[in-house]
Amino acid sequence: MRSCIDCGDVIVGRSDKKFCSGHCRSAFYYDKFEVIHLSHGQLYRSFIETEEFC
Ligand SMILES: [Zn+2]
Repeated sequence: MRSCIDCGDVIVGRSDKKFCSGHCRSAFYYDKFEVIHLSHGQLYRSFIETEEFC
């Protein structure tokens, strides 16, 4: 059983998911790429929107 790498909740569903929800995925990537977001906002935005929920 896997845990969400953002909030630590147990992930229900596909076993290859890293996040329990899209919200946690967004929060995680926002934290990780905040600097990129600040300097390359459009690039960050397209990265998040094209990334498959996983
Ligand atoms: Zn989570």
